[in-house]
Amino acid sequence: MDAVIVGGGPAGSFAAEQLARRGVKVAVFEEHSEIGVPTHCAGHLSIRGLRGLGLFPLGGGIVENTFHRADFFSPLGADFSVQLAHPVTCAVNRVLFDRFLAGKAEAAGARYCLGSRVRGLLVDAGVVKGVRIERGGVCEDVSAGVVVDAEGVSCNLLRQAGLAGFRRGGVVCAVEADVENVCDVQLDAVGVFLGRNYAPGFYAWVIPRLDGTAKVGLAVRAGNPRVFLERFMRRHPVASKMFRHARVARVAFHSIPLGGLVRRVFADGFLAVGDAAGQVKPTTGGGVVFGLTCAGIAAEVASEALRRGDVSAGFLRLYQERCEDAVGFDVNVMLRLRRFLDAVSDVQLDSALRFCARLGVADALLDVEEIDFQGRMLLEVLRKPVVWATLAYFFALYLAANA
Ligand SMILES: Cc1cc2nc3c(=O)[nH]c(=O)nc-3n(C[C@H](O)[C@H](O)[C@H](O)COP(=O)(O)OP(=O)(O)OC[C@H]3O[C@@H](n4cnc5c(N)ncnc54)[C@H](O)[C@@H]3O)c2cc1C
Repeated sequence: MDAVIVGGGPAGSFAAEQLARRGVKVAVFEEHSEIGVPTHCAGHLSIRGLRGLGLFPLGGGIVENTFHRADFFSPLGADFSVQLAHPVTCAVNRVLFDRFLAGKAEAAGARYCLGSRVRGLLVDAGVVKGVRIERGGVCEDVSAGVVVDAEGVSCNLLRQAGLAGFRRGGVVCAVEADVENVCDVQLDAVGVFLGRNYAPGFYAWVIPRLDGTAKVGLAVRAGNPRVFLERFMRRHPVASKMFRHARVARVAFHSIPLGGLVRRVFADGFLAVGDAAGQVKPTTGGGVVFGLTCAGIAAEVASEALRRGDVSAGFLRLYQERCEDAVGFDVNVMLRLRRFLDAVSDVQLDSALRFCARLGVADALLDVEEIDFQGRMLLEVLRKPVVWATLAYFFALYLAANA
């Protein structure tokens, strides 16, 4: 096999498709017996990001809703809404989305081996030469010119390849629930609930579907996210009204890496993509668009490496450099925003949202379309004086929080 992909999530399947399109013989090993199951993700994606990857519009009932508004709530009840000129984000059904990506990869020539868990890397003289898989209790070695690690947040293989994983303290524990009988919710708006009291180190979200159900979740830096979810649904001044008749139909737990790009995600014969490489927005935890963007780059570099017969770390370094060029600036800006959000108190957050509402910041954001590349988005809106004033206010809050 030319290339082996570990994991049939979105990053793995997108890398597989892009490799197969370049004529690379590629096999995807996925530990579960079905693609997309179990699901743990809210599937809230930017339409522009998907379009840039050639994935929008999406058919087949994958899109559950579209949004042109975001409502931000402080834990003390202040709110601030951003209404955009047209739908900017969508909620996708992640099971169907993952299957769609896998279907495209298969159509391009990739081979899927389901129920096949990769147990470890085959390493010879420091060079990754393939993987050991286990299927139905039987182990088998599969050799490959290059191994693409798309195993998600666990980052076991990264360590086996001799690379450091995520930065300490950079991972939050998340819960995602399917909730029925949601009331008083704006169907064209995602709800973002900030504050330590309900989601310390992150935020809670409500993503409504058109049928009265919603995806509801949050993440926390420490503690049991399920306990925080119950508290959020019962006690938050706004959310508790939405959930007064609600029933939780399904709940899933998973981690999100928020610490930024992993410093080194290549070794001889080895690349990591997606969550495994920390290709996630530190502000929102969204990893699909960045993961796929970098998976596309990984396929470009890996296919070129195979063509030249040079899969050395020296050549594969190009992958890391191109990812830094593509998303590094934005990830670094978002890391600073995340630090700001983590540092301020609930009272300060409350006054920040009131300040934004009073100053009419929403008007300055009306034309925003870019929500993935938030560094670039900030540079764009910085031309407006009201945004300067807001940033100055936030900076003062940040200094006060760290005084
Ligand atoms: C609660 C929650 C909500 C989220 N909401 C959003 C959102 O709204 N928008 C957004 O953009 N992002 C969101 N994310 C993040 C998003 O889910 C991830 O960034 C994205 O799924 C990463 O894709 P991936 O392919 O790198 O990894 P994954 O989707 O985790 O896929 C990894 C795959 O590898 C398989 N695998 C793992 N180990 C092995 C092994 N050893 N052998 C074989 N197979 C293996 C797994 O079974 C899995 O199928 C959310 C995350 C969480 C936890």
